[in-house]
Amino acid sequence: MNDSRDPECQRLADAIPDPVHEICQRLASAGHRSWAVGGCVRDVLRGTSAEDWDIATDARPQQITSVFRRVIPTGIKHGTVTVLIKKESFEVTTLRGESAYEDGRRPEKIAFLDDIEDDLARRDFTFNAIAFDPIREELIDPFGGRRDLAARQLRAVGVAIDRFAEDGLRVMRAARFAATLECAIHSDTLAAMGSEVARDTLRKVSVERVRDEWLKAMRAKRPSIAFQLMREAQLLGACCPPLAELPDPSWDETMRLVDATPVDPILRLAALLHGISGPASVAQALKLSKEERGRIEGGLSPHPLPYDPSWTDAEVRRFLQRIGKNHKDDVIALGRAMHDASTSQASPHIEELARRIEGQLDAGVALTTRDLALDGGTLIAKLSLSPGPGVGRLLRLLLERVTEEPELNRPEPLLAAARQIASESDLC
Ligand code: ATP
Ligand code: MG
Repeated sequence: MNDSRDPECQRLADAIPDPVHEICQRLASAGHRSWAVGGCVRDVLRGTSAEDWDIATDARPQQITSVFRRVIPTGIKHGTVTVLIKKESFEVTTLRGESAYEDGRRPEKIAFLDDIEDDLARRDFTFNAIAFDPIREELIDPFGGRRDLAARQLRAVGVAIDRFAEDGLRVMRAARFAATLECAIHSDTLAAMGSEVARDTLRKVSVERVRDEWLKAMRAKRPSIAFQLMREAQLLGACCPPLAELPDPSWDETMRLVDATPVDPILRLAALLHGISGPASVAQALKLSKEERGRIEGGLSPHPLPYDPSWTDAEVRRFLQRIGKNHKDDVIALGRAMHDASTSQASPHIEELARRIEGQLDAGVALTTRDLALDGGTLIAKLSLSPGPGVGRLLRLLLERVTEEPELNRPEPLLAAARQIASESDLC
């Protein structure tokens, strides 16, 4: 059946990138069929641009490999090879079915198939189970994915509870898509998300996978949609007990804060964790990188802000030194979001503090001993000091003086100050 007069078919035909068309054409010339499938088809149909173009084909992995010159056997056991066209890479996967999920994640056995509809049947949600053949310009939508997309509705393919029982990640994906695509969840699918079996299967999913879904949810305009769904379906206890234990008022505040925080997944994760007692240990449990954990801790720790308009400029400088230049954008961004979301840690003076901090940075104030106009080596030479920890102490005392009086931070006055400090103490 050629559906090419259908406007949706036309939209997809127009959106297919040249290399994808080329891959499908080459497979067709070798006697195989192939389809663009999954997220790319969904995104074109909803009128946004597609990111990754995944291709499904009835060719077996060895056959795919023999059709293309440059291929990487990415996951050949699972039927996936990466085809390189110019500088771009595309995943081409043999049609497959799956059975017997052992660890709640990976299927035990994979069977290669010949029918695209059987491959679509193993996919999670109806709008992710649509395929488009770019050569015949034909749409395959056996589960009503287009209808659900138009109704802005997420619905499991097949019996929802069985699908969630097979793979614990799917409930997280459902919550994530509800937020990123701003869609409702069909009643049967929603009921299945709250089932005990879904919860038990979620427990088997690795923390890294849960974390990655959460970070994707954080890119939504309102991530709270995803997290509220997880809370209502009682899924949070299976992946993050401290969050599940938040009482309702703190939870509501947290949801407002996450939505009010700029679209930066780690910063929004900090917002999500702001109300629990050990955000650092949860960040560790989520296996975030050291740098990401540093951002979360650094961004959260100065709140509630001790700032008061009576602070002197020196106090602003000391605060800036304490939070560190690297973290000041995160501290301010979270402070603004707390203000916008009227959370209990909000400060009414956040904009004034932000302005005063910028003023200090524009003036080039010293924040660490490395910003001083003299370094340790020069001090040792000029004051005939012996190297050792005393030199570090002297530098720190100088930084304190410079924090009080920034105009001291020039070589001559700083040397005079160093001389005075050295003569008054037995630093070195
Ligand atoms: P995005 O790339 O925006 O995260 P996506 O839907 O493209 O969304 P991928 O993880 O790239 O997600 O997966 C591609 C396709 O594979 C999906 O559209 C879906 O058809 C299928 N899929 C992915 N994960 C699962 C899963 N856990 N269970 C069943 N099918 C899945
Ligand atoms: Mg994708």
